[in-house]
Amino acid sequence: MTLRLHIDAARWRTHQEETLRQVRGLVPVAKGNGYGFGLDLLAQESSRLGVDVIAVGIAQEVEAVRSGGWDGDVVVLNPWRPGDDAATALLSDCRVITTVSRADDLRRIADAAPGSRVIVELLTSMLRHGVTPAEAADLDLSGLALEGWAIHLPATGSLAEARELASAPQVEAPFWLSHLSLDDYQRFSAESSVPTRMRVGTRLWLGDKQAYRTTATVLDVHRVSRGTPLGYHQGKAPRNGFVVVVSGGTAHGVALAAPVPQRSARQRLVTVAEGVLSATGQALSPFTLAGKKRPFAEPPHMHSSMLFLPGSDPMVKVGDEVPVTTRMTTVTADEIVKRP
Ligand SMILES: *Cc1c(COP(=O)(O)O)cnc(C)c1O
Repeated sequence: MTLRLHIDAARWRTHQEETLRQVRGLVPVAKGNGYGFGLDLLAQESSRLGVDVIAVGIAQEVEAVRSGGWDGDVVVLNPWRPGDDAATALLSDCRVITTVSRADDLRRIADAAPGSRVIVELLTSMLRHGVTPAEAADLDLSGLALEGWAIHLPATGSLAEARELASAPQVEAPFWLSHLSLDDYQRFSAESSVPTRMRVGTRLWLGDKQAYRTTATVLDVHRVSRGTPLGYHQGKAPRNGFVVVVSGGTAHGVALAAPVPQRSARQRLVTVAEGVLSATGQALSPFTLAGKKRPFAEPPHMHSSMLFLPGSDPMVKVGDEVPVTTRMTTVTADEIVKRP
């Protein structure tokens, strides 16, 4: 019963090393499900890269990267909030840098744990977290060790926005950026009178799509006739064919869909087509059997999924490993197989 993530380690590391060479001040981001690889593996890879600092999403993830073998500095990206006990407990940890996004929180932290290492986040056009330029010009940073200013840009980050925000703070400290193109980052870096750092997750770990793939295992194959009831919901088989049960379900984060930005007319058409398909109970699954993506026979279960394969030849047998398309930020594989 195994969903496997296969990594071509040599290829994966070549991409990481190339990214490290190109991005001066690289800060690997290891958060959430570890971009599909897990936090402990990303901690190991970061140690191997020889960087001095990595970033996690939340305080609870600090322990995970340390148990993966990381013993350098860790930036916690989600800004500190009063009442977050896990984050507060880390304020006095001298290898943890806390992100702060509100002026009042700086004072609370200075009172609770004087000398804390902090990065102050500047509000960008993302409108997620951060102090405004006016606030940044006038912050009370006493009693704190300021490690820098964070600028978290939209996916289409613009150099102009980074430059403008960087002119706001009155206190000189490194800039910690994300989501600038390589060229823009290098330009920003060259212009800057302070050191610059670049947080990278997706482009670092998932930048070479040939370096990893996910497979599911065929667990059962049952012949069915049109109209045969099947599954928890006893829906009817749409045609004569086979129900193929494969590993990979909701527990693995397989076939979970997040809203997709509906930017283009084409994207809207795709969404409408998917909606029509799912209204007929025929949602296309991410599993490929005999060279084609196949529809779910019913919604995925916790650890497995039931697929429908039409025809008189099943073409797959129990034990076969079949490709599955996964969203790497939601998938959790049962096993990671690393080819050296
Ligand atoms: C997640 C995150 C990143 C990394 O984003 P990627 O798109 O995965 O490179 C950088 N900075 C912050 C503040 C983040 O939350």
